[in-house]
Amino acid sequence: MPGYHVWTIGCQMNKADSRRLAVRLEEAGYRDSSLLEESDVVILNSCVVRQSAENKVIHKLDSLRGLKKKYPQIKIVLTGCMVSYDDREMKNHFPWVDLFLPPQEWDAFDRWLYEHGTARIHAGPAPGKHPVSALVPIVHGCDSFCSYCVVPYRRGRVRSRPVDEIVREVTELVHGETREACLLGQIVDQYGVDLVACPDLADLLGELNGIRELCRIRFLTSHPLYMSDKLIQAMARLEKVCEHVSLPVQSGDDEVLAAMKRGYSSQQYLDLVRSIRYHVPEASISTDVIVGFPGETRQQFARTLNLLQEVRFDKVHVASYSPRPETYSAKSMLDDVEPAEKESRRTQVEDMQHEISAAINAGLMGQTVEVLVEGEKKGKLQGRTRSDKLVFFPGPRDLIGQLVSVRIDKTSPFALQGSCCS
Ligand code: SAM
Ligand code: SF4
Repeated sequence: MPGYHVWTIGCQMNKADSRRLAVRLEEAGYRDSSLLEESDVVILNSCVVRQSAENKVIHKLDSLRGLKKKYPQIKIVLTGCMVSYDDREMKNHFPWVDLFLPPQEWDAFDRWLYEHGTARIHAGPAPGKHPVSALVPIVHGCDSFCSYCVVPYRRGRVRSRPVDEIVREVTELVHGETREACLLGQIVDQYGVDLVACPDLADLLGELNGIRELCRIRFLTSHPLYMSDKLIQAMARLEKVCEHVSLPVQSGDDEVLAAMKRGYSSQQYLDLVRSIRYHVPEASISTDVIVGFPGETRQQFARTLNLLQEVRFDKVHVASYSPRPETYSAKSMLDDVEPAEKESRRTQVEDMQHEISAAINAGLMGQTVEVLVEGEKKGKLQGRTRSDKLVFFPGPRDLIGQLVSVRIDKTSPFALQGSCCS
C-alpha cells in the first residue's frame, strides 16, 4: 500500500488543511507513514508568518533535497502560505519539489494526485477523518491587511462557506467520532460578510447548536473590530458554545496599533473584554502580541505590559516582529528595534504571563471540571475544559470521545492534572 507523510507548521488553519489533504490521500488508498523514505508522497504544509517559521520550512525543504536524490520516485508537495499563485521563483529555488500547491487548492491537488499518484482504489473512510475535536474552516482568506501580516497576500480575499455546507460537514463529522467543532477563520467573526443573505457567525452558531450529537462548539480567531454584541450574546445563550475567546490585541499602545493598521484603540479593546466578561463571566480569553514592531519605544512596550496585567489573559502568544515580504511595514518602515531588545521584550511578556497563567490555573485546584476526552498522551487521557484548559488524568481508553467530570489536583501555567470522578 502506498504511503504518505505530512509535515505541518503554523496555525490551526494549516492543521485543518493538512487533515483535509491526509483524508484525500487516505481515500485514494494511501496510508500514513512515519518514515519519509517509505512514503510515496511527502507534503510540507508551510508557514511564513514569521521569519523563524520560514527558516524551519527552508531547513526541511533542504533536507528533502537529499531524500529526492536518493529516492527520485518520491513526490514532494509544498503547500501553505509559502506558496503563491506565481510559482516561477519557487521552482528555481526548489527544483526537487514536484508540486507547489497554493493553500486550500483542493481541486488542483485532486487533479495532480490523479495524474501522478500511484494509488487508485477508493479505500473507504479515512482513519482520523472524524477526530473528537474537528477543525472546521468556515471562512477563508483575509481582507484586513494589517501592516505586518503576509496572510492576505497568500490566502486571498475573504470567502465564507455557505451555512448549509458547514452544517452538512459537521453533521457528517458527528456521525463519526467527532463531538466538538472548532470553527476557523483568520477573522472568524467576519463570517458571512460576502454571502448573499449575510448570515453572521452568531446565526451559524445557532444552526450548529441544534445538531444533536454535537457536544461543543468553539471558534477562532476573533478580531476586536468584528466581535459584535450579537456574537457575545450568542456565546452566552447557546449551551454548546464554549466559553473561550481568542482575541489578538497585538499591542497595548495606540500609536503602535495605528501603525499596525489594526483599527481599534487599547481602550476599545478593554471595553470589549469588559463586555465579554459581563455577558460570559466564565469566559477564558487568550491573545496574541507582537513585540518590537518598527518604532516601538520602551514606553510603548510598557503599555503592552500594563494591558496584559490589567486584562489577565489565560494565555498569551507572543512573537518578535519580523518583516515579511510584500507587507506595508516591511516596505515602508524601518525594522529598528534591535534583536536583543526584541528578545528581552518577548521574555518579559512570557515571564509576566507565566505568573498570571499559573495564578489563574491554581484557582481551579480542587474544582471539578467538565472535560471532553480527545485522546491519550504518555499513558494518560487528555482533553480540554470548556474554557480550553488542557487536562490530563488516568482512565480507560473507552472514555475517549466522552464528556467526563475531572477533579483537579495539580495545576501549572500550561495544563491541569486530575482524577476522573464520573
Ligand atoms: N487573524 C489573527 C489576528 O487578527 O491577529 C491572527 C492571524 S496571524 C496569521 C497569527 C499571529 O501571527 C498574529 O496574531 C501575530 O501576532 C503573528 N504575526 C503575524 N505577522 C507577524 C510578523 N510579521 N511578525 C511577528 N508576528 C507576526
Ligand atoms: Fe493577518 Fe491582520 Fe488578517 Fe489577522 S487580521 S490574518 S493579523 S491581516
